[in-house]
Amino acid sequence: MADLSFFDGGALVSVLTTEPLGRALDYRAPEGGCFLGAFVEVPLGPRRVLGVVWGAGEGGYDLAKVRPVTRVLDAAPMSEAMRAFLVRVADYTLTPMPAMLRLATRAPGLADPPGPRRVYRKGWAEPDRMTEARGRVLDVLDEYGGAAFTLGELAGLAGVSSGVVKGLVKQGAVAEEEAPRDLPYPSLDPDLQGKALADDQAAAAGRLCAGIRAGRYGTTLLKGVTGSGKTEVYLEAVAECLRAGRQALVLLPEIALTAEFLTRVEARFGAMPGEWHSGVTQTERRRLWRMAGEGGVGLVVGARSALFLPFRDLGLIVVDEEHDTSYKQEDGVLYNARDMAVLRASFCDAQVVLASATPCLETWANAEAGKYARIDLTSRFGVAEMPELMAVDMRAEALEPNRWIGPTLVRAVTARIAAGEQALLFLNRRGYAPVTICRACGHQIGCEHCDARMVEHRFLKRLVCHQCGETKPMPAACPSCGVEGRLAPVGPGVERLAEEVAERFPEARVAVLSSDLFGSARALKEKIAEIAGGGADIIIGTQLVAKGHNFPLLTLIGVIDADLGLQGSDLRAAERTFQLMRQVSGRAGRGARPGVAMLQTCQPDHAVIRAILSGDEEAFWQAEAGERQAAGMPPYGRLAGIVLSSPDVQTVFDFGAELARRDAPLRRIGAQVFGPAPAPVARVRGRHRVRLLVKAAKGVALQAALAEWVGQLRVPNNLRLAIDIDPQSFY
Ligand code: ADP
Ligand code: ZN
Repeated sequence: MADLSFFDGGALVSVLTTEPLGRALDYRAPEGGCFLGAFVEVPLGPRRVLGVVWGAGEGGYDLAKVRPVTRVLDAAPMSEAMRAFLVRVADYTLTPMPAMLRLATRAPGLADPPGPRRVYRKGWAEPDRMTEARGRVLDVLDEYGGAAFTLGELAGLAGVSSGVVKGLVKQGAVAEEEAPRDLPYPSLDPDLQGKALADDQAAAAGRLCAGIRAGRYGTTLLKGVTGSGKTEVYLEAVAECLRAGRQALVLLPEIALTAEFLTRVEARFGAMPGEWHSGVTQTERRRLWRMAGEGGVGLVVGARSALFLPFRDLGLIVVDEEHDTSYKQEDGVLYNARDMAVLRASFCDAQVVLASATPCLETWANAEAGKYARIDLTSRFGVAEMPELMAVDMRAEALEPNRWIGPTLVRAVTARIAAGEQALLFLNRRGYAPVTICRACGHQIGCEHCDARMVEHRFLKRLVCHQCGETKPMPAACPSCGVEGRLAPVGPGVERLAEEVAERFPEARVAVLSSDLFGSARALKEKIAEIAGGGADIIIGTQLVAKGHNFPLLTLIGVIDADLGLQGSDLRAAERTFQLMRQVSGRAGRGARPGVAMLQTCQPDHAVIRAILSGDEEAFWQAEAGERQAAGMPPYGRLAGIVLSSPDVQTVFDFGAELARRDAPLRRIGAQVFGPAPAPVARVRGRHRVRLLVKAAKGVALQAALAEWVGQLRVPNNLRLAIDIDPQSFY
């Protein structure tokens, strides 16, 4: 491989560290030398820090003062494709390289002193004399790339005695190191019998597999209603990738989804894949990080940050539920894992599969434009039918005050329970009530640090700010007028809905699924399994339930307030509501019994509600795309959000105004600046927030212009500036 260039001991190398410095620093390669891309520990002042050998040293310093690399870590060197990928993500998101490297090394103990195991990998020298046995050892090392072996493993694979390997160690042709015990993952068998695919599934799988066999970059939108068998199809692509001897990555939006998925992987391939998300132990994280680099894991299932694992040879990335907003990282490095997956694949000749029932408009448009291939699965697998969708016009429903389930929906729920089936009531609001008001003076209880109302959580017995997480007990008296006993909840959250359900259906077993009610991912997983097994009659859920869980007994969905998402002025309000409603209603009727989804709405004639009901998705996308195109909005134009925040309100407005005035670098590329304006949430954690929005045409050098633009001003100490390319949320 061309990128395995090697620096001899003492050579000047440039090392990128995880420390927030402006540039890479020069060091001397350690005794024994090191590869380009090697993970190293280097001295920085009195400390030792993690870094990667990024290239030849630049020189230009007092050479006598250049310090040596402390040691080379026991990890496969970072590949050239990975280094190029990190540079591109940094350029795209305007993130400094050290922050990118931190993202790519988020495994604990990478620099820990070596553990008790002695391992062997390819060395840096040629043996003085070549024999047949030595040749076989070197062949094995080549075949497995940078992988490390135990002595027995290496000798066994090469069919030689351990003495032959030891001889090569003396010559430097094989490197001997102490290594912690991070073992490779059991290998998955792609040729175990999978499920017999239906015709449309087989055709879809055939196309994906052909892409993988071609060994080139390509992206495919795999669109199909929930339950159409997309997962079965892309598992065949995973199998093909494993057959080709390459690695595969499946990204899932939600940890709670992985349990079901892992079971399916094990059934299909006879072993568990590597898992990467916040619920995985530190040892496993380190093991997986290292095995990704050494090729010791074939399939990784993970959350968005798995995209930054140092895969040795990644051949396939699946982004399941690709429309999911959780793929966008909203703090630190602001990246969208879906878009970066496409970028990464393009650097390593990999295929991308974007799977969704309701793709985001960007993906839909890329498929329309022919940049992505598109495969549609149009029917549900087997006997399962898409649920019937209907609107319940709430203007015509007789509803007592402080009640939210209309008579029509109550009748439907009653009938389902009587039939031994499950009903899901969907309300995308956590807590008991979104607003607490004083009936004496009209005061609404707000957060002291944020420009947001406190949300009552009765289960926790506290008021909670959904912006900053601040909590306080419910006061007895109004904090404004001091009158006692007049504070009252206004509007429903899932907990309040649960109260209404308990009153209306006293016999029913009720389960509330809201992210804040579960202490751990494990507890949530267990609850989901219990519900799937029939452990509840009525499920009350937030957005959490919209994400891919399979409840075979569920046949009725009641959307409490289908208008909730339509009120915002958000660019994506229509798209998000459309996706959410389609996703939620897709939860019903996944087993043999058909499902119904009822949408309670006060605007049954709203274009989005009509589009949801009619099921004419292409018409919806066309109309939505037309509007965006006319307005020059994404995906037909580009946006960058700038958020300024500071404890001092004057500083933040002054700085914002000065930025807006000095817009010459942006005008040069024809971009416009809007703002500064107070952000919709104007204060968070005591910091005042101001937003600017930059709008540009597609195809201009936006990042360079942005960098020049903000680079004109020195950022005051107490002010934070964050640039969000392709912003997804506008709070
Ligand atoms: P999606 O990913 O589109 O929601 P899944 O792949 O999860 O769909 O399939 C939905 C259900 O149908 C799952 O329970 C799955 O096991 C089953 N299924 C899909 N395809 C087949 C098949 N070819 N043979 C048997 N069962 C299948
Ligand atoms: Zn707050």
